Amino acid sequence: MDFVQARTIITKTKKPDYWFGYEYNMNIYRGCNHGCIYCDSRSECYHIENFSEVKAKENALEIIRDQLRRKVKKGVIGCGGMSDPYNPYEKDMLLTRNALELINAYGFGIVIATKSSLITRDIDVIQDINRHSPVCMILTITTADDDLSKIIEPNVNVSSKRFEALATLADNGIYTGILLMPVLPYINDTEENIKSIVDRAHEAGVKFIYPYFGVTLRQNQRCYYYDKLDEHFPGIKEKYIEQYGNRYRCSSSNYKKLWNVFQKSCKDYNILYRMSDIISAYKANSRQVQLSLFDY
Ligand code: SF4
Repeated sequence: MDFVQARTIITKTKKPDYWFGYEYNMNIYRGCNHGCIYCDSRSECYHIENFSEVKAKENALEIIRDQLRRKVKKGVIGCGGMSDPYNPYEKDMLLTRNALELINAYGFGIVIATKSSLITRDIDVIQDINRHSPVCMILTITTADDDLSKIIEPNVNVSSKRFEALATLADNGIYTGILLMPVLPYINDTEENIKSIVDRAHEAGVKFIYPYFGVTLRQNQRCYYYDKLDEHFPGIKEKYIEQYGNRYRCSSSNYKKLWNVFQKSCKDYNILYRMSDIISAYKANSRQVQLSLFDY
C-alpha cells in the first residue's frame, strides 16, 4: 500500500450537533476499496484520485498523538465519513486500532461508521474508551439480501455478517446502530427490505437506525454508478435519467410507504431513528456505563 503526506488528521467539525454529535473528524486512510457502487466519496469535489486505491496517511499515529495532546477541549471523534477505517489492510496495519488506543489514552470519545466486521477485533479498546467517554458504533446496512449486497457492496462483508458484528458489539455492552442508506430507487427500495432490516436490527440488539430512502448522485460518482447499473441492472439507468435528470437528491418514489413501514417497525421495537434522540441516547448511555463502574 502507498502512503500520502498529511499535515493534520483530526479536524474540527463545522456543525457539532448535526451528524451524530461529534466534534472532530478523523480519516486515517485515503480512498476505499470496498467498491460500493453508489459511494459518494468518489465524487470529484473531494479531489481523491484513484479512489479505490487505499493509501494510508504517512506518520498517521504521530500526527494523531500530537493533535490529541494539543487539544484543550475533549470531545467525540467521528471516524468513517470519507473512507472505511476497517479496509482489508487494517487487519495487518492496525492503524485504526492504534488510533483508538491513543483516543483512549487522551480521554476522547469515538463514533465509528464501517461496513466491516473487523470492527469486533477492537471491542476491548472500545470498551476502555466507554469507561470515560461516549462511544457509538455504526454498521451501514442497505439491504437484508446477501446476494444483493455482494453486487452493490462487492468487497466487504455481506449484510448477514454485519448483523452478526452488531450483535457481538451489543452483547459486549457497546451502543450500536445502523445507517440505512442509501436506499437505491428501483433496487432495494421495497417495504419488504426495510421491514426485514428493522426486524434483524432488533434481533441484533441495535439501539437506532438512521435512514435515507434515496441516493445522492453527482459528478463522476453518478457516471460510475450508471456504469454499474448497466452492468448489473440493465434498463434501470434509463429510469433514473428520466425521473431524476441531474438532480443531487434522488429520493425513492416509494418514500412515503417506506417511511411509514420503517417508523412503525422502529416504534414497535423501541428503536430510535431521529438524530437528536440518537445523540442524546448514546451520550446518556456512556454516563450510565461510567456510573456503573462505581458499583464495583
Ligand atoms: S465502504 Fe464507504 S467509503 Fe468505502 S466504498 Fe463503500 S461507501 Fe465508499
